[in-house]
Amino acid sequence: MKHTKNWAGNITWQPSQILYPTSEKEIQKIVLKAANDNQKIRVIGTGHSFTALCKTKDILISLDQYQGIISIQKDQYQATVKGGTKLSLLGELLFKEGLAMENLGDIDVQSIAGTISTGTHGTGKNLGTISTQVIALRFINGKGELIECSDTNNRELFKAAQVSLGVLGIITGVTLQCVPAYKLALQIQKENLDTIIKDLDNRNNDNRNFEFYWLPYTNTALTKSSNIVTDSEPDKVNFFNYWSEYVIENYVFKLFCEYAHWFPSQNVAISKLSAAAISNVKKVYYSHKIYATQRLVKFREMEYNIPVEAYQDVWKEVVKTVNSKKFNIHFPIEVRFTKGDDISLSPAYQRDSAYIACHVYNKKEYQPYFEALENIFRAYGGRPHWGKMNNLKAGDVADLYPEFSTFMKHRAMQDPYKIFINPYLQELFGI
Ligand SMILES: Cc1cc2nc3c(=O)[nH]c(=O)nc-3n(C[C@H](O)[C@H](O)[C@H](O)COP(=O)(O)OP(=O)(O)OC[C@H]3O[C@@H](n4cnc5c(N)ncnc54)[C@H](O)[C@@H]3O)c2cc1C
Repeated sequence: MKHTKNWAGNITWQPSQILYPTSEKEIQKIVLKAANDNQKIRVIGTGHSFTALCKTKDILISLDQYQGIISIQKDQYQATVKGGTKLSLLGELLFKEGLAMENLGDIDVQSIAGTISTGTHGTGKNLGTISTQVIALRFINGKGELIECSDTNNRELFKAAQVSLGVLGIITGVTLQCVPAYKLALQIQKENLDTIIKDLDNRNNDNRNFEFYWLPYTNTALTKSSNIVTDSEPDKVNFFNYWSEYVIENYVFKLFCEYAHWFPSQNVAISKLSAAAISNVKKVYYSHKIYATQRLVKFREMEYNIPVEAYQDVWKEVVKTVNSKKFNIHFPIEVRFTKGDDISLSPAYQRDSAYIACHVYNKKEYQPYFEALENIFRAYGGRPHWGKMNNLKAGDVADLYPEFSTFMKHRAMQDPYKIFINPYLQELFGI
């Protein structure tokens, strides 16, 4: 049945009901009835989180039938959209109005409310997480009330709501500060890892968006740099780019994953082969299409945010640990950068950040590898991506987030009956 497991398939659940409301009034009624019947509610976007955030045995709400633009203020480049709107649809709708999101992550299938609720981010040292593009929010709280907040209206609550893991209420409206539609020139290159690490500051300064994927056990990485262009025409579909970005990254890579799964001694060889298969790509297209890639191979993922100043030290330890060859892995490690923000539970709270993400093919054991890297990240003040695997407990969250008690104050005010709390969140937040 749809919506009874997450994308990676590592978390499954059997809700007593899955509801698809089409209006705020309907959502209010569901919440009031649930409170009356002593039932819990979780909301799902597209289930692209790796943790048990959406798991429930009671009511699961999907806003799949609550998508689209509510209003637009073109002169201010602002748009208010329904909480269930998927990023791919959002990109198209904004583009028709001559607008675009300032930055995005590397897929576009998530819902906008799910995206911001876990602090989803892209890359770019001068660009914040996607939640920083939100300037106002509407949600139905645990008492069935419609709450509105923004930078100028109930600011403290707004800062809590911008990254809130679905515990303050059901987000129905998201007002985005967009930018005029733009084209990006993307360059994908096979490069020497040592050169990238030495030159990292320049790469981040010289490119609007820069990230790299390191192939374990090799000195090779795939770099992705993109920059705004105004005078180039968007490219036509190019078979070579399609082949290297879609076919190799998905179907050929899936074969590599299966082979390394059945023959674990071949992890090093597979990683070297993946490095050899990297092709250089150049293309120009509208931003919402350039950011989005397709991910057909299923994996488990852990991603940590670390203060950018600690990046070089952390990276050395990560490389040493991975190259020890103690783990049954070959998936690339992804490194991205973002600007700090002032959002209570944002992993980038009050610090410019580097994000390091490690992945394991979903048929392989991941725990020892993730634990080893998590120990490194945590030793440097790392904060996990809320949608990705981690072993954080309540005391840890309070230690990592200076605004945690303020966040929890708002949680208690908005959802006094804990309607939106499942066992996973109960343990994470210690409530
Ligand atoms: C293949 C893949 C690629 C990814 N790429 C990136 C990336 O590039 N960058 C990055 O940072 N992350 C990335 N992620 C993580 C992903 O962006 C987050 O996990 C995101 O939260 C998923 O959005 P979703 O709509 O699927 O939300 P879900 O996973 O369904 O839900 C996430 C949270 O949001 C809550 N929620 C959903 N809708 C609402 C609502 N209307 N009101 C209140 N709460 C709500 C849920 O209850 C839950 O707590 C990726 C994940 C996958 C599987």
